[in-house]
Amino acid sequence: MTSTDTSSPGQAATVFAEPAGTALSLLLGQAADPRSERGVECPGDLPAPSDPDLVARALAAKEKLGERVFILGHHYQRDEVVQFADVTGDSFKLARDAANRPDAEYIVFCGVHFMAESADILTADEQQVLLPDLAAGCSMADMATAEQVEQCWDVLDELGLAERVVPVSYMNSSADIKAFTGKHGGTICTSSNAERALTWAFEQGEQVLFLPDQHLGRNTAVRQLGLSLDDCVLYNPYKPMGGLTADQLRDAKMILWRGHCSVHGRFTKECVDEVRERVPGVNVLVHPECRYEVVESADYVGSTEYIIKTLEAAEPGTKWALGTELNLVRRLANAHPDKQIVFLDKSVCYCSTMNRIDLPHLVWTLESLVAGKPVNRITVAPDTAALAQAALEQMLALP
Ligand code: SF4
Repeated sequence: MTSTDTSSPGQAATVFAEPAGTALSLLLGQAADPRSERGVECPGDLPAPSDPDLVARALAAKEKLGERVFILGHHYQRDEVVQFADVTGDSFKLARDAANRPDAEYIVFCGVHFMAESADILTADEQQVLLPDLAAGCSMADMATAEQVEQCWDVLDELGLAERVVPVSYMNSSADIKAFTGKHGGTICTSSNAERALTWAFEQGEQVLFLPDQHLGRNTAVRQLGLSLDDCVLYNPYKPMGGLTADQLRDAKMILWRGHCSVHGRFTKECVDEVRERVPGVNVLVHPECRYEVVESADYVGSTEYIIKTLEAAEPGTKWALGTELNLVRRLANAHPDKQIVFLDKSVCYCSTMNRIDLPHLVWTLESLVAGKPVNRITVAPDTAALAQAALEQMLALP
């Protein structure tokens, strides 16, 4: 039986030790690693959050830039930022929206680092993708580094498994991991098409290495492909051989990377039981990044876009408990006053790294563009971009 452990890695041999300064440490309020790009603070003069003119300044800068700038807002962004977005969406929709705006000189991505990387990969070289705060990372994406994944592949290769393993990487991964996936003939997936991606992968090989979200991998394999929990093993990059035996690695159908979303991983089965008691007749709707036992006890499971559409189609008077990011839940509750919409957890559950992008950072970014001095540009090296694009194109070609 596989474990759904999402606790922090413990101490291990040096080569497997968790690096300082990951988004996890940012979440925990620890000092950021000065070597990390994302550990740096904003290099410019940020307007004060209390500046009463922030909204007017953002509007003025956006108007001056006109069609030259295209602002993308992820569903989990703050309202104060989303109000300036030209489009909103999940990470894949936004990357595609960016690719569909070749006339925009600047893409301001109000989301997290890996999303801006994907937009850079999918847009023309002359277009600049900017992330208003470089510290806006994704703790899940940071749980699989290129070095760790290469070490894992070496393990599989030494066991003679690499030829039969197909990597499938969630969109929520760094450009390096997407490039690794493309290099080894795998595909990217989203929370909407993970079933198709896995079905395709099992037609190409006998085993799947699923990166970096263990929960999406497990939920899809077991609930949608009909594999058993025993077909899945959890690869811990902080332990030699992932903490697994050669036989375990050889016999598994799904080798799940030990990563998870810090937001969706917080929901528990107890949260579901508690809300059912608190709100009789409630429909529990959760994202597939939630733990297996949460997804199993929910009424509906689906991507962010699925959650939004399900609520749009719901009858007035119905009751919903949502297991997803709190900014989105609040926005949906405001948009559907005819339905009772509650948050699945009793405690606050924002994506803290996503929330780093606030109105002062957006104003700073837009005003820097007006001044002709773009800031916080995200670029992906051409060889990495080419391999990552191959994996993204494979996803687009999924049957
Ligand atoms: S909600 Fe989870 S997966 Fe999405 S950016 Fe935040 S930590 Fe990453």
